[in-house]
Amino acid sequence: MFTTLIPSPTPGSTHEAIYRVEDPDSGLLGLIALHSTQLGPAAGGLRMRPYTSFSDALEDVSRLSAGMTYKNAAAGLPLGGGKAVILGDPTRQKTPELLRAFGRALQTLHGRYITAEDMGMSPQDMALIREETPFVAGLPDGAFASGDPSPITARGIFNAILTAHETCHSTRDIAGRVVSLQGLGHVGWHLAGLLRRAGAKLIVTDTDPERIEAAVRELGAVAVAPEEIYDAPSDIFAPCAIGGILNQATISRLKATMVVGGANNQLATPSDAQRLHERGILYAPDFVANGGGIINVATEILKIEDREGFVQQKLDALDQTLRRILTEAQAQGVSPDRVAIDTVNRIMASRAAG
Ligand code: NAD
Repeated sequence: MFTTLIPSPTPGSTHEAIYRVEDPDSGLLGLIALHSTQLGPAAGGLRMRPYTSFSDALEDVSRLSAGMTYKNAAAGLPLGGGKAVILGDPTRQKTPELLRAFGRALQTLHGRYITAEDMGMSPQDMALIREETPFVAGLPDGAFASGDPSPITARGIFNAILTAHETCHSTRDIAGRVVSLQGLGHVGWHLAGLLRRAGAKLIVTDTDPERIEAAVRELGAVAVAPEEIYDAPSDIFAPCAIGGILNQATISRLKATMVVGGANNQLATPSDAQRLHERGILYAPDFVANGGGIINVATEILKIEDREGFVQQKLDALDQTLRRILTEAQAQGVSPDRVAIDTVNRIMASRAAG
């Protein structure tokens, strides 16, 4: 087992440390990125994907871990930002030996990073890692096990949709509004149910035809092909699938006047926030809108007894934070993404001072 500090990982990197973790016996090759431990131990999920190259994985873990710093600070959690990735195909290469090797690497950081599940991982995988280290959440059982975060993530996004709608139309009533929803997975499906119950009309897509059929059948949704979702005649676009989907090519096609969704890293580049702003589209920054998931995981990390009380209080506070961000952005005539980043920087500066 080798855990090596990567010196100067990327130009202009603001990371405290990025470690390359390698175990030839189990085939483990991964990265653990600590972006910031200023507010507390760095927390964020572990992702396993067949990356095309090591530098591709390094870029992903760098961006995701920085996003976790912003997400945890915006959610008012005493946690910093971190993320880990394992290079490989989870369907073929994820073995108990590989996960235990990752657990041993994690243990060498003595709690500066706390992992949880992300793409390609399951609660059972977290239980295997737990055999080597206590610095893991998202366990399938145990006193504080927090379970699937997706319903809480969806609740947070639903709140964010109502708040964006209120900012634009002075009401939280979305009955009759059309929401175009990209991705009907764990988060998207729960969100679709909440929107339907609030009287919104749904235009949906997914790369899995069975999920689309279920939404048409059970939620009265209108289905479109994956590539057509950007042209859908909707009021609100809710990306809940993959990152990078707000870009030069797609933004010009959007009919919606609000973008509020759960996917991480929705903006392909930071300048896409400005592009949305110039088109008059109100964008709820993803790291604020989708903070419900980490709030749920935090109940496990922080060993919270009154789980639902904590979740409700943090979701309400997150909603207030988003309201302030959107209102301030409107008043200043700037992108909410800009204001959200300034807000987080202020939170971090004041905690550092206090
Ligand atoms: P998931 O894998 O359960 O669902 C994703 C869905 O998107 C799947 O149904 C998939 O078929 C579909 N999809 C993939 N590519 C697509 C495309 N090009 N067009 C349309 N559909 C496509 O994942 P999830 O847990 O629902 O998470 C969704 C997003 O939200 C991810 O970006 C994730 O990182 C982010 N997120 C999730 C949580 C959580 O609590 N699960 C928390 C914060 C952020």
